[in-house]
This record gives sequence, structure tokens and C-alpha cells, in this order.
Amino acid sequence: MRSPSGRSLLEANDPEIHAALVGEEARQSAGIELIPSENYTYPEVLVALGSVFTNKYSEGYPGRRYYGGQEYTDVIERLARNRARKLFGAEHANVQPLSGAPMNAAVYLSMLEPGDTVLGMDLSHGGHLTHGAPVSHMGTLYNWIRYKSEPDNQGRIDFDALRETARQHRPKMIVCGYSSYPRDYDYAEFKAIADEVGALTMADVSHIGGLIAGGVMRNPCDYGFDFVTTTTHKSLRGPRGGMILTKKAFRRDIDRSVFPGLQGGPHMNQVAGTAIALGKALEPAFADYAQRVLDNAQTLASALMQGGANLVTGGTDNHMMVLDCVQSFGIDGRVAEETLDSISITTNKQVIPDDPNPPLRPSGIRLGTPAATTRGMGDAEMARLAGWIIDALRNHEDSAALARLKGEVEETCSGFPVPGVEP
Ligand SMILES: *Cc1c(COP(=O)(O)O)cnc(C)c1O
Repeated sequence: MRSPSGRSLLEANDPEIHAALVGEEARQSAGIELIPSENYTYPEVLVALGSVFTNKYSEGYPGRRYYGGQEYTDVIERLARNRARKLFGAEHANVQPLSGAPMNAAVYLSMLEPGDTVLGMDLSHGGHLTHGAPVSHMGTLYNWIRYKSEPDNQGRIDFDALRETARQHRPKMIVCGYSSYPRDYDYAEFKAIADEVGALTMADVSHIGGLIAGGVMRNPCDYGFDFVTTTTHKSLRGPRGGMILTKKAFRRDIDRSVFPGLQGGPHMNQVAGTAIALGKALEPAFADYAQRVLDNAQTLASALMQGGANLVTGGTDNHMMVLDCVQSFGIDGRVAEETLDSISITTNKQVIPDDPNPPLRPSGIRLGTPAATTRGMGDAEMARLAGWIIDALRNHEDSAALARLKGEVEETCSGFPVPGVEP
């Protein structure tokens, strides 16, 4: 158990860090988090993260470790793996990746040779940095070929074009997954194309792991994907980390790729937190949560559009939306992000498909509902949020208006405490 005096020891012995922690708690409580990749984890997970499991070296896997003293670490890692398998219907789960980026690297490094061709979603269309962005090591190691969505056709993937690309380039792997794409995928189409050209399939569902676990979005494990990766800290509400779900046939390769291939000792406090979050996701209440995340996204998206905001793909099927600020309000995403920050609504600037503007001054912002839903917000709050966002972006140079909006946002947020923070 975490010592009850831990907080007061910190306050007495390292007042600077303590003050920053108190400040961050106040910041998270005062405003609302709309960055779609963020969430508020469970108080139980905070306990696990701050526990003595952080002291332990557990290189290897349950029953096959390089150090002694593993009777309890084996328990938590087995629980985490079993819960992950059950939740996603997967044959094998590796819960040791330290975060999303090493999780994806472990899959690539286990299956691909340098120079191999991989198909991935274009980054400006929503693909992730770890899907071969030129600035990433994985981007230079492999030959990435891009496919795109059709933003004017509700963001549909053009599978005929994708099939052509696959036939032409004969990729060793087809990667689907996104961090900024407001639709669901047709996994069967991806799988059929991959089978036709003999490619491996990987779905990186980092953003929607919780929505799949809650049964409200399609599960690539049901479509025979070879590898399904997800972060644990986004819609799943767990600690920061990653998971790889795979078939029995790849179990050995994936486990060896994570350790000793890529990583050293797993972070067992994080594995304990992952096990807790997966246990929560198996409870019926989590399906309700996932549904509320989607419902809130629908309400927020329609209210924004009714207020005159232009959403990329014209709406959302998941928890996120990308707002074209240039088209809607004549300001770029950076100004929009800063304006919303100033009224205690946290979002992030975001490129839109084939964005003519540079990444640090892109055309859009990205919004999502997992964190607000965790705070207990619903329809009424989503409608109010949309109103504040539109008001602020329209009047971004009016400091009196922004001050008034900030007051309203913070007044509302004060009724929705952050889990794990004493009010
Ligand atoms: C967030 C995310 C990652 C990376 O996760 P980190 O924990 O930030 O390394 C990878 N892929 C996708 C699709 C993501 O959304």
C-alpha cells in the first residue's frame, strides 16, 4: 500500500516538485481536457503506479524470468495478459511495451527486414507518427507507401486505389490505424487486400482500444488481423503503456521482439495498472462508458456543425473530430489551440488531409470526448462546450469575451471532479 504519508513527505522534502504536482492537479480540475488521446485514469491505477512494483526487475515473462522474487509480478502480468486476451478475443497478448511507439517498433522489428515495403495511412489523413513518418527511425528503416482517405466522401478509404497500390508495391505488411481520423475502418477490406498480395496485417487501434473493448467499435481481432496494437492510456483509461495482441503463431516472435529484442526490464507498476484497467474494461459499466463516449462525440460534433464549424469528413463515427479552423473561422490551428487554452479548454492543433499549412501552424484542431466522459459530462455539457468553442474562436481577439468564457468553463468543470484528485 502507498504510504499515507507519501504526500506530506514530498511536500516537506521536495517542495518544488510538490508545488508542481499541486499545480497540475488544479490545472486538470479547473479546465476540461478535449485532447482525444488523453484521459483521466482510475484512482486504483494511480495506486498501482505509485506502488512498490516500481522497485522490481522482471526481465523475461511469467514463469521464465532472469531474476528471483517474482511470485507477485508473475500474478499481475498473467492477470493482465489473460484479461487482455479475453477482452479483445485474442490468442496472445504482450503487455510489456513501455508505450505506443516501442509497441509498434517491436512488431515491425520482429517481422520486417530493413528496406521492406509497408503500406500505411498518410499522416495528414490521420495516420500516426509511428506509421513511418519520415522524421521517425521506422520511417527511414522501411519503405513506406501511403494510402489516403476521401475527406469529401465522409473520409471513406478508397479500397480500389489501395488494392492497386498493394498489387503494384507488393508490401510485406499493411498497417491500418490512426490518431486523427474520425471514422471506423472496414477491416475485412484491408484483410482481403493483404491476403491477395500475401501481406501481414497490423491494426494500431491506440485511440479506440477502449471503444473496441467496450464493444462499440469494430474489433480487428475478429477479422483475422495478425497484429493488433493499442496504447493503454487513451480510451482504455489505464497507465501509459502499450499492448500487442497477436495469434499463437507469432507469440514467440513478438515476445522475443519486445524483450530482449527492444526493451530491458518491464515497468511492473505499469503492468499492474494495465491489469487493473483491463479488469475494469471487462465490467459491464465499461460498455456504458464506451457508448457514452460515442454519444458525447455525436452531440459535440452536431452542435459544432450547427454553430458553423467545419468538421473534416463531415462528422464522426468514433470519439474524435477534426475541426478545420481556417475554413470555419479564418484562423490557423495554433491560434485556435491557444485561444481555447486561454478559456481552459485543452485541444491540440492538427493537420487536416493534404494540409497546405505546416505542422506547427496547421489548419485544424483535434477534439475528443473520452476524458470529458470520464469526468461524467453528458449531452448538456457537450452542447455548452460547442457553444464556448465557437464563441471563443469567433471572438479570439476579444479578451473580455474570453475572460467571461473562461469563467463559465471553470464554473461548469468545478462540478465534475477529476478522479484521483481530492476536491
Ligand atoms: C498515441 C499513439 C501511438 C503512440 O503512443 P505513445 O504512447 O505516445 O508512444 C501510436 N499509434 C497511435 C495510432 C497512437 O494514437
